[in-house]
Amino acid sequence: MRIGVLALQGDVDAHQEVLRTLGVEGVSVRTPSDLDSIDGLVLPGGESTTMSMLLDSSGLREPLTEWVSERRPTLGTCAGLVLLADRVTDGRDDQVSLGGLDITVQRNGYGRQKFSFEGDVAAPDLGEEFDGVFIRAPRILDVGASIEVLGRLSADGEIVIVQAGAIIGCAFHPELSGDPRLHARLVACANAGNGPR
Ligand code: GLN
Repeated sequence: MRIGVLALQGDVDAHQEVLRTLGVEGVSVRTPSDLDSIDGLVLPGGESTTMSMLLDSSGLREPLTEWVSERRPTLGTCAGLVLLADRVTDGRDDQVSLGGLDITVQRNGYGRQKFSFEGDVAAPDLGEEFDGVFIRAPRILDVGASIEVLGRLSADGEIVIVQAGAIIGCAFHPELSGDPRLHARLVACANAGNGPR
């Protein structure tokens, strides 16, 4: 079992560390051939605008678009969630997402006061609340019928963890609180033979 972490920019090491604690080999993905040997992929936080540009210059845009359209196991956190969103508002004009989740996200969607914050996330199907670290997080504005809602902010019920088949997205940074449950879910999808497509 090998799980890739997109390593063009952003918060890569903390994801590798969570994978290590799960006993899974993490592989840094920088070029298209890095995708050949992996069973699942993490799209980390960072800046979705920068990542969008680097997807083009690295040659990864086409194979990653194919990856998500084949519904291969993927976990996107924060900027990674922006990359997985079918619709993005308040993005930069030239940023283009990969898509894969039938959701609309508003980039940097939490107002000034809550631009970065920690909040409890209720995720009844996953066990106890998550300690959600939100850093200029995208806000999920709407979800389509194919989307399973896995987590909501305890304070106001806003949706912050979603899944569709083997594609999982969350608006916060589970790797910064060291919570391995979403990575474990990704690994389970990968173990299930690349999950439902
Ligand atoms: N605001 C960033 C973006 O839109 C996401 C921030 C993050 O990943 N922590 O890409």
